[in-house]
Amino acid sequence: MTSSSPIRVMTPEEIAVNAGARAAPVKVPDPGLFAERAVRLRQLAEGHAMRDYLLFVAELAQAQHERFKRPDALALPAEVLVNSAMVGGLPPLDVATYPRDPVWREELRALLRAMGAAAIPEPAKAQIRQLADAEGDWLEHQAAALLAGGAPGLDPASAPLIAAALQVYWSRLVVQLQQRYDASDQGEHVAPFGMIDDPTVCPCCGSRPVASITRIAAEQSGQRFLACSLCGAQWHYVRIKCTHCQGTKGITFQSLVDDDGNKSDAVAAECCETCGHYLKQVHMEKDLQVEPLADDLATLTLDLLVGELGLVRQGFNPLLILGEADASSGGAPPPDPGGR
Ligand SMILES: [Zn+2]
Ligand SMILES: [Zn+2]
Repeated sequence: MTSSSPIRVMTPEEIAVNAGARAAPVKVPDPGLFAERAVRLRQLAEGHAMRDYLLFVAELAQAQHERFKRPDALALPAEVLVNSAMVGGLPPLDVATYPRDPVWREELRALLRAMGAAAIPEPAKAQIRQLADAEGDWLEHQAAALLAGGAPGLDPASAPLIAAALQVYWSRLVVQLQQRYDASDQGEHVAPFGMIDDPTVCPCCGSRPVASITRIAAEQSGQRFLACSLCGAQWHYVRIKCTHCQGTKGITFQSLVDDDGNKSDAVAAECCETCGHYLKQVHMEKDLQVEPLADDLATLTLDLLVGELGLVRQGFNPLLILGEADASSGGAPPPDPGGR
């Protein structure tokens, strides 16, 4: 006999009490997530050493935006599973356990079509044509490795495109699950997203953050949120607290200094002496346009600086895979779809 562990269904009252005690702000992906990222990437690309790559990712983000805004419904998890995740303190759309629908590969095909028509250099187009012919099994293997945070066996050249498709799929899942709840008689149901047991990963999909952001919008002024590397959700996390070991002692900040000797305040690395990890923090009060994933991509030199101090990168950026697997300090050069 199998000793299955039955899912105990709590009453809505029990769940509300349980969830209420741990409630914390979770912001599901904004409709402008990818469009704003594209704008920010174009802005950062100007005069940047990684200009070609930032522009390539900007095109990709624009193509993601076109897919993200489509209304057609995805298959969503049954409510009982969402509730049991919530009660168990787990993300309801956990990349490690949620059976992703092969429909994500349609997102990939659409992105490849859009990028094939975009103004990008020929070497990148050749890569796109090659990926369009890839076998489903191979793509699923690559997706699994990406969702595991950059496991061995990843093809670095294909990874940004595959990651972009997975981002669109997961962002849409999160938004649609939230919409299903919003459209329900909410008193009878449990909000799908709230604080989970591990505050260092996304409460929607369980992925690591790409960076953190301190916000200035009205009631959130000065609050720090961690930004999901996959679905784009943001969740509250207190300031000056390590996002790896959750320690609050020995936290220091490192920033870049430009050619004129001015400290760049918009992006800093929050470094933990206790466990030796760091995560970038972008500050809206210093620059309104900051976007965690875009600003992370454009500050690879900060990773080099902090890497030289012996610190290990805690953030995960699925659009920049090279060097993640064996040198998480971010010392490797970015992929170069733009050629010379
Ligand atoms: Zn997420
Ligand atoms: Zn730490």
